[in-house]
Amino acid sequence: MKTRRDFIKVSAIGSAAILSSSAFGSDQQTEKNKSKKTVNKPIVLSTWNHGLEANKGAWKILETGGSALDAVEQGVRVTESDFTNLSVGLGGLPDRDGNTTLDACIMDHRNRCGSVGFLQNIENPISVARKVMEDTPHIMLVGDGAYEFAISKGFPRNEFKSEKAQEAWQEWLKTSEYKPIINRENHDTIGMIALDNNGNLSGACTTSGLSYKMRGRLGDSPIIGAGLFVDNEVGAACATGLGEAVIRIAGSAIIVEMMRCGMSPQEVCKAAVERLIVKHENKVENLQVGFIALNKFGEWGCYSVYSGFNVAHRDINTEKLVDAEYNRPW
Ligand code: ASP
Repeated sequence: MKTRRDFIKVSAIGSAAILSSSAFGSDQQTEKNKSKKTVNKPIVLSTWNHGLEANKGAWKILETGGSALDAVEQGVRVTESDFTNLSVGLGGLPDRDGNTTLDACIMDHRNRCGSVGFLQNIENPISVARKVMEDTPHIMLVGDGAYEFAISKGFPRNEFKSEKAQEAWQEWLKTSEYKPIINRENHDTIGMIALDNNGNLSGACTTSGLSYKMRGRLGDSPIIGAGLFVDNEVGAACATGLGEAVIRIAGSAIIVEMMRCGMSPQEVCKAAVERLIVKHENKVENLQVGFIALNKFGEWGCYSVYSGFNVAHRDINTEKLVDAEYNRPW
């Protein structure tokens, strides 16, 4: 006869099994994953054409056997330190009050992560995010707290103001009525994911965010699970585009979870875009979002709501910019 204790034991095992097959993929899918071989490492992927230069920075580390974590940090620093870039770093377009505020996050193969938001006057937010990850018990620091932490860690204050960005903002003020706008053009991020020679994955994401945003607005880029997610057993994903839309579907996290269930990186990027469109009740006229994904086997994919998104890819054989497939033409 079954005792109450036995029953509880069986139920617990039963619910664990249900959890593992529905939330984390069936046995068959797990087997499908196991049967694949790592075909391609090291490899680095990043968003938009500024990714080409960023990948060069990452490749210096990857080709000498360095870690994906160092590679993604050094890679996106290249873009942050390019003050001609209007969507990343201190050269980025400001908020509607004329202040450039920066968001960044980083995640490694041990599920460690760090993030900064609403950071001002610091050239390399990604390195501050890494310090948050490594030197604090926290994951996110924002605003003055993030700034003070950066200064305490020896990051210098940088008062650079981009003339080009300030001029664009002045132009915007003329007709904007001070209203933040959502369109397909006024944002871009450098998101980077990499697989190193040891088979470890990491990712980094950094941006000045949506231009002319409300003061204090954070997008998806500093939010683990939205702008970036890495699970070393499965893969990594990163987002660019309208952050509000990405947060609504926990974009990067669902991509990694779909890969866990055996879907390819290309399939999952497409599925995430389709889910995003449905969750916006098909009203995506002004909404561009692009995703990139990389799995443990060096397979990768990218997909966007609208045409025009491109992805920089580098591995041992090639270094190229690829136009992403998309759901609808521009
Ligand atoms: N995702 C960024 C944000 O919403 C901007 C972008 O990638 O275009 O802040």
